[in-house]
Amino acid sequence: MNKKNIVAGNWKMNKTPSEGNRFICDVKNTVKDIHCTEIIFFPASTGLVDIQLDNPFHLGAQNCHWETSGAFTGEISIEMLKECKVEYILVGHSERRQLFNETDAIINKKIRSIQTYNMKPILCIGETIDDRKSGLTKDFLKNQLVKDLEGIDSIENLVIAYEPIWAIGTGETANEEQIYNAHGYIKSVLKKLYPDTNNCPILYGGSVNTKNAKELIQISGVDGFLIGGASLDLDSFISIINDVENFRR
Ligand code: PEP
Repeated sequence: MNKKNIVAGNWKMNKTPSEGNRFICDVKNTVKDIHCTEIIFFPASTGLVDIQLDNPFHLGAQNCHWETSGAFTGEISIEMLKECKVEYILVGHSERRQLFNETDAIINKKIRSIQTYNMKPILCIGETIDDRKSGLTKDFLKNQLVKDLEGIDSIENLVIAYEPIWAIGTGETANEEQIYNAHGYIKSVLKKLYPDTNNCPILYGGSVNTKNAKELIQISGVDGFLIGGASLDLDSFISIINDVENFRR
């Protein structure tokens, strides 16, 4: 079977542990016969404990520190996440870059550390509206990829999320041509950097919802979605999962 598509729900700073637990149970009890899709929940750190998931469901963390342990008040280590059965970790989300000054150098360190634990980083990249308007989208994406992956030998376990910043949480989705071009370009940059690797999944993120998911998943080069707002609502999240799954059948 081909690689599975991915539907990843980034809850950001929403849902208490009990709310998250109930939500995950409801999804598990409602969604049936999923064979072509991986579903990943990204609760806040407090919601990662005691979550039991089997295929097609997986657990992801929204953040991590790159050091193993030590005096880093408020941070969480990859080892701690691994013990919670976390498999995926978001890195470089635009909110982390913009609101928490996460630089490409920091992102690079996180990816390296995540790989040493054989876990899977989901690297988020995407241009600002100013860069897009100035025709600099490709330069912006290439710059992020080159810096974030500097010195990293293998992208075997890496997932990329293309998330144009102007589309995140705005209700404005990138159009088919923009997504097709961006995903194709990201693939071509990765091919140059890693000639032997050809199967790094590229997710689209940015105001994916129940109205547009069916269309967006059909765009060539889109291997699934990273979803913010619509992943918080049970009916919406389930509807998107079914759209992605049904597309592959
Ligand atoms: C996100 O935060 O990664 C995201 C894509 O959010 P939204 O779906 O709400 O635009």
